[in-house]
Amino acid sequence: MSAAETDTDGGDGNVDVDAVVIGAGFSGLYMLHKLREQGLDVRVYEKGAEVGGTWYWNTYPGARCDSESHIYCFSFDEGLHREWEWSERYPEQPEILDYLQWVADRLDLHRNIAFEREVTSATYDDETATWSVELADGERVTTRYFVTAVGCLSEPFLPDFDGLDAFEGEWYHTARWPDGEIDFGDDHVGVIGTGSTGIQFISEVGGQADHLTVFQRTPNYAVPARNRPLEDDEYDEIRENYDDIWEQARDSRLGMPFDHEHETDYGLSEDEIRDVLEERWQQGGFRFLHSFEPGSILSNPELNEVVSAFIREKIRGKVDDPETAEKLVPTDHPYGSKRPPMDYNDYYGTYNRDDVSLVDVDEHPIERVTADGIRTTADHYPLDVLVFATGFDAMTGAILAMDIEGKNDQTIEEKWEAGPRTYLGLMTSGFPNLFTITGPQSPSVLTNMPLSIEQHVEWIADCIRYMDEHGYDRIEARRESEDQWVQNTNMLAENMLFSQAKSWYRGANVPGKTQVFTPFPGGLDNYREICARVARDDYDGFELERASG
Ligand code: NAP
Repeated sequence: MSAAETDTDGGDGNVDVDAVVIGAGFSGLYMLHKLREQGLDVRVYEKGAEVGGTWYWNTYPGARCDSESHIYCFSFDEGLHREWEWSERYPEQPEILDYLQWVADRLDLHRNIAFEREVTSATYDDETATWSVELADGERVTTRYFVTAVGCLSEPFLPDFDGLDAFEGEWYHTARWPDGEIDFGDDHVGVIGTGSTGIQFISEVGGQADHLTVFQRTPNYAVPARNRPLEDDEYDEIRENYDDIWEQARDSRLGMPFDHEHETDYGLSEDEIRDVLEERWQQGGFRFLHSFEPGSILSNPELNEVVSAFIREKIRGKVDDPETAEKLVPTDHPYGSKRPPMDYNDYYGTYNRDDVSLVDVDEHPIERVTADGIRTTADHYPLDVLVFATGFDAMTGAILAMDIEGKNDQTIEEKWEAGPRTYLGLMTSGFPNLFTITGPQSPSVLTNMPLSIEQHVEWIADCIRYMDEHGYDRIEARRESEDQWVQNTNMLAENMLFSQAKSWYRGANVPGKTQVFTPFPGGLDNYREICARVARDDYDGFELERASG
């Protein structure tokens, strides 16, 4: 559908539409719904052919979410979460995609979304306080508000290996997986990457392929997810308690309703700590990372070392061959300093199979892709299929992929050259009326995403309503507030263990990218309070103006 065919009534006369939103995943869908409810004319542009965002693109075998399903959904509409019923503790990609399509149908969202339309640039005009947004096909649309709902992990990162063009087999990036099922039965498959995605892929395809060779640079700490079907009576209980569940989740650091029964590790012996860990290991998922007082495993090095050693022992206990086991044991970074992956499907046990092998490309790096495989500094590995589970240009990649120009001809790329700078992760100074849902320096990826998204969408919608009510047509983050917020985020991160890992949280996975810790690590609960206070104080830290001055 072209933009012209979408069902909008036109903006206020000076602009084509009141708001342009980029992306039709969780954030774009809710932003559209919310602004439309407030009477704005909204147009959503989506690169994909359907709604879903992350869950539209990441259709690789084994794709699943690591937040528990009953909280990995919208909470704003009681009807939505009471009617939908998840089938497993952790939702699989097709089920999340079905859910988002169902939500879009229920809220009649499709009519304002233009699919297969890519926004390439956007330019701000300070005289009129409007944005001119340009699409890949050359169409331009003017808007008062410009909202990025592009996700934090949406710009795939493909390492620049020599020889890939001449590879004669099939190759795929997990975040651009082709439609339809692939039968790997006769294939020698190679996969590069052992992050959350690689771990899911390897557990699923190990045993399906004729042979699977895993090229691992850095091992990870995968904690059992303990996935299982959700029983009817369990679901009834969730429904009965939904209000409390959401309240507890919103009031937590992670956006997840976990009880911290063991408030602190203080005074516990190492054996007692290990007993707690064992109990949480059996419960599985993110409950393990939060075995103790929120954040303590991520900020107390002694406690973290006990936890890391506990997981290392578990890994050694699962892998038969001691040499392979040692390669799978992470020693270069503390547990949690990189995004901790989940093990849904006996990941470590996969390496006990004869048809799965592990190649350590830290010891012998990949030299090049050849016509029929991969050459490392030690050996050549023949492959029919090569899979890149190599992650994303995270947090900023999808925003910087567009050519966004703000006041004084400054591009966002220039402004963020030394790392992203925002106030609250919601706006960046010099770019009025541009809102970034789950933007850099907001809690985003350190939390249960749908709840963080809802908070951002509601804050932005309230802000726009406030502007309308008070006759403002321009809002911009003040430079001083932004500087303080960036400093605050950096300081919080420095007091934690994040600097000890080369992670995508810090941009360290993309060669040449400026390394700076990007999400706000102070907890969703605290962040919500800060944002609410800012709004209550008439958008303290923001400059509000009428275009006429
Ligand atoms: P990732 O965590 O960035 O992992 C990328 C992997 O590729 C790493 O093992 C990395 O090794 C490897 N790699 C990259 N460049 C390489 C090179 N030149 N040579 C060899 N190896 C290379 O990406 P991801 O696994 O796609 O996960 C990204 C995030 O998406 C996750 O952390 C999570 O937040 C989210 N996700 C969530 C789920 C879920 O909910 N269950 C599932 C998938 C993804 P190094 O570690 O050495 O850099």
